[in-house]
Amino acid sequence: MYADYHVHCEYSDDSLTPMQDQIEAGIEKGLSEICFTDHVDYGIKKDWSEGNIEYRPSDGVNYGADHREPIANVNYPLFFEELKQNRERYQEKITVKRGLEFGIQTHTVPKYEALFDTWKDSLDFVLLSMHQVEDKEFWTQEFQTGKTQKEYNLRYYEEIFRVMKIFRHYSVLAHLDLIIRYDRNGVLPFAETEEIIAEILKLAIQDGKGIEINTSSWHYGLSDTQPSGKILALYHDLGGRIITTGSDAHKPEFVADHFHDAHRILRAAGFTQFCTFEHMEPVFHDLEY
Ligand SMILES: [Zn+2]
Ligand SMILES: [Zn+2]
Repeated sequence: MYADYHVHCEYSDDSLTPMQDQIEAGIEKGLSEICFTDHVDYGIKKDWSEGNIEYRPSDGVNYGADHREPIANVNYPLFFEELKQNRERYQEKITVKRGLEFGIQTHTVPKYEALFDTWKDSLDFVLLSMHQVEDKEFWTQEFQTGKTQKEYNLRYYEEIFRVMKIFRHYSVLAHLDLIIRYDRNGVLPFAETEEIIAEILKLAIQDGKGIEINTSSWHYGLSDTQPSGKILALYHDLGGRIITTGSDAHKPEFVADHFHDAHRILRAAGFTQFCTFEHMEPVFHDLEY
């Protein structure tokens, strides 16, 4: 079986795709399960309940000129209601799971504690992501500017490690080496960050958490998987077994992208199984390859 555990739709600020279009794509691509993990990024985006939401201009192409992207976190009541309806509507064809992607930082942990507490009964799965450090974005280079390549790489991993020590309401670490995607200096040699990455993986294993293989690396044209083959192998060698497969698709064409490759790569790294989640608990399945 195949299960895509990292999918975005229009409840994310950076996707205009209706939830149903992603589900239909999942069915077409032969998925048994699809888990929505729309974005929550406290520190840089507001909750809808705060009001005065700003919008990005529409691209006017994909879903019409009046369909604009709100600069806001998931509209939680609408998101969970639509998930509920689609879980019933599609139950004969695909299992739809309920997740969120927490783009967390040390100073925003209390807000995620409150959010998780409010919605925990509706959640199957939570991705822990590091999208910003000190509210500074990677894709704009704001975070990297003024630091050496080694400094910004280490600072990125340190922030993940610090968050993991104080926040436990997550399932897996998403795109663990995300910083590589936005590194204009190329890929820092693994030895420079291996120590902190090993500490992160050991803590995840000790806490019963996992990691994901994020197949958007093909779409972004990266030279390695995300996380890298070295991190996947290190995680397995340290005893890690909880691993999910995620496309990070914001559009239907990328749902379940390169999943055959992902299963093959996991097998090569030593894994025999991967995970889905139900009410925040992992369920193991054999790899297809
Ligand atoms: Zn992410
Ligand atoms: Zn994502």
